[in-house]
Amino acid sequence: MSDCGCEKARADLEAFVRGELECCRTQHSEIREHIENCPGCQDEATVQRTLTVAVQRACIDEAAPEELKAQVIASLLDVQSRPH
Ligand SMILES: [Zn+2]
Repeated sequence: MSDCGCEKARADLEAFVRGELECCRTQHSEIREHIENCPGCQDEATVQRTLTVAVQRACIDEAAPEELKAQVIASLLDVQSRPH
């Protein structure tokens, strides 16, 4: 399973998710296709989306309670610790 493209996909995952959330026209169709067919990278994309949205929300609200941040991080760690 070393040639599944995960490494390449994950290297660009953050940029992909950011572009996706900002509704930019992205050039990430290869990654999108890989993520759609790869449960491991789907999880990773979910983590990135959650994190990006949480950060954006925190910036908008300005008041980001430490407790909320801790909860987000805990839920992300939970997703990442699941077996793929
Ligand atoms: Zn993958």
